[in-house]
Amino acid sequence: MLTGQKALGMEERAVPVPEGDQVLVQVSKVGVCGSDVHYYRDGRIGPFVVDAPLVLGHELSGTIVAVGAGVDASRIGQRVAVEPQKPCRRCSQCKAGRYNLCPFMEFYATPPIDGAFCEYVAIEEDFAHPVPDSISDEAAALLEPLSVGIAAARKGRIVPGSRVLIAGGGPIGVITAQAARAFGAAEIIVSDPVADRRKMAERFGATATVDPTQVDTTDLQVDCFIDACGVPAAIVAGMESVRGAGTVVIVGTGSDTVAMPIPTIMNKELNVTGVFRYTDTWPLGAHLVATGQVELDPLVTGRFGLDDVENALNADLQPGSLKSIVAVR
Ligand SMILES: [Zn+2]
Ligand SMILES: [Zn+2]
Repeated sequence: MLTGQKALGMEERAVPVPEGDQVLVQVSKVGVCGSDVHYYRDGRIGPFVVDAPLVLGHELSGTIVAVGAGVDASRIGQRVAVEPQKPCRRCSQCKAGRYNLCPFMEFYATPPIDGAFCEYVAIEEDFAHPVPDSISDEAAALLEPLSVGIAAARKGRIVPGSRVLIAGGGPIGVITAQAARAFGAAEIIVSDPVADRRKMAERFGATATVDPTQVDTTDLQVDCFIDACGVPAAIVAGMESVRGAGTVVIVGTGSDTVAMPIPTIMNKELNVTGVFRYTDTWPLGAHLVATGQVELDPLVTGRFGLDDVENALNADLQPGSLKSIVAVR
């Protein structure tokens, strides 16, 4: 549990009892997300403030070990990837199919809802997505960040032949590059000042990489720019690099406010949007991994036990680190 800024604790709790429409999942692997690290270091992300002990972790896989009264008991024993959210299913956003925007959302590891750095979690049965044996427990956990990449590719209107610029060669940048490739993008240019990260991006999805401290990307005039770094200068440069009527997708979390190049947005009629989580991405994510169109296993650069979450949360400070996994079992 996160008990305060950079303060972690461990607590023995009762195993949750699944409600009628829920399954109980014995947690196997949990990915460490940039958002977990933000909460750990800063105690908040934008409007979400940690003011009571919070279990972090929301990228998880596991096995169903019990089911609620309304769930088919044959699911017990099934390997699953958990979509870590609980929308209300009744509000106008949910009814419009945008359940990620549900104002009554309960999302793992977002205050005050506990996450998955623990042994057991309960989740609505349709958000416990079955995974085939060809997908490892680690890759199944990473279907969550892949879902962000898929949501970004959808929002970016990436179609066969699209030209895409992605700022940031971190986990989300690299995974989004792979999603863009799977969506048929012809050119995927990843921009990152760190040479190691550019190399990683070239291995996974990017057709080219650039060092933004050396190269001006304005002339690229891509169809879509996806920000996966949150750095103000990168966001502005990315907007300048999009063609008229192109799309800008903000995925990275960094500064709360960025000075916008208003004439660029107006004169080019740019479509500027954000990505907030995802809707209906796990089945596609599992398909992309099972068919080898997206590789998640090679992205894992560190593995930690449940008693070593602090080191897992600090692993990103080590050079060459991309994605850490907390192995609960
Ligand atoms: Zn995440
Ligand atoms: Zn709702």
